[in-house]
Amino acid sequence: MQMDTPGAFSFREVKALDGALGRAGEITTPHGLIQTPAFIPVGTKATVKALLPESIKELDAHAVLANAYHLYLQPGSDVVDEAGGLGKFMNWDGPTFTDSGGFQVLSLGVGFKKVIAMNEDTFRSDEVIADKKERLAHVDDDGVTFKSHLDGSMHRFTPEISMKVQHELGADIIFAFDECTTLHNTRKYQEKSLERTRKWAIRCLKEHDRLTKERNHRPYQALFGVLQGAQYEDLRRKAAKDLGGMSVDGVEFDGFGLGGALDKEKLGTIVGWLCEELPRQKPRHLLGIGEPDDLFVGVENGADTFDCVAPSRQARTSAVFTQDGRVNMTNAKFKRQFAPIDASCDCYTCAHYTAAYINHLFKSKEMLASTLATIHNERFIVRLVANMREAIIRGDFFEMKKEFMGRFYGAKI
Ligand SMILES: [Zn+2]
Repeated sequence: MQMDTPGAFSFREVKALDGALGRAGEITTPHGLIQTPAFIPVGTKATVKALLPESIKELDAHAVLANAYHLYLQPGSDVVDEAGGLGKFMNWDGPTFTDSGGFQVLSLGVGFKKVIAMNEDTFRSDEVIADKKERLAHVDDDGVTFKSHLDGSMHRFTPEISMKVQHELGADIIFAFDECTTLHNTRKYQEKSLERTRKWAIRCLKEHDRLTKERNHRPYQALFGVLQGAQYEDLRRKAAKDLGGMSVDGVEFDGFGLGGALDKEKLGTIVGWLCEELPRQKPRHLLGIGEPDDLFVGVENGADTFDCVAPSRQARTSAVFTQDGRVNMTNAKFKRQFAPIDASCDCYTCAHYTAAYINHLFKSKEMLASTLATIHNERFIVRLVANMREAIIRGDFFEMKKEFMGRFYGAKI
């Protein structure tokens, strides 16, 4: 494996999933391999909250994803650049991703839910970006003006600024700047927005190419185009065709981000529409998805990598995964459970600590509670997706899915 070699980015399919769009594959980056399907833990501000990089390695995560928006505001992408890039700055020598900032500037840290249940009675308005929150972002054809959630200062992201910020951050995989709409926007607005995102994609490719040449002392960064189109089949297919076939002076996207708010019921269908249209030889990242059932659906329909804050965020609120579903560690039933959270789990936490001890840490508000629960949850999801990969290679993905879903969700499925 060559390290820090410019141009060292590639994807190869190892095995296709019979009768579906999914596949097992391998992404090569200048900082190592990502065996796919893979779950990528999120380190929003260049740290996976509560974990040392050594622990992230130990739970066999192949990469981490940080947020361009947060690092642009604090400490500043120029600081990360001077430090030698994201990986060096955070002492993580494996592959890294940064998102474009598009989702964050439009949801402004308050975060509308990525996967929501569609409710026909929901108020429909193009003004609803961050529901019931002060609207802090304004989108125009050139970019987005937004107010910092930290100090209220005004900032502006354009496709060119997002590329500059992400080149300074220096992740192996970066994303084109896109307008992330919600399911509440009107069809007319979605059409207009999709065209805006297409034009921004062209500008991102141009600026990315320019910066790649200008900064050739740095390892090659792969640029993924982001596909929007909400819940509309024609718009989603158009986005995939437009960006999938896009070439600006011979420069193409290295892969694709499947973005936007997604109706949980239609998640698989939408991912399927996109993956049917996309070039098969390039990787696809499903942005912001991390629930076990959604991961199965995403893998089945052709997504290769996933990221989500849910496993670590839930861990910090004492919700942990077990084979038999999610449990709350503060529950009195754990007070005298002198056995691991999940006897079948191979994580550091389950190897060394009892549920009784973790229950005590949460009850007494000790910081170690978050660390131990995060290690367990991240390992649970990383392992689950790695197991899906092995099942695709073995040829029994659907049996594995049925067994996991039956146990995890029980009567709910
Ligand atoms: Zn565990």
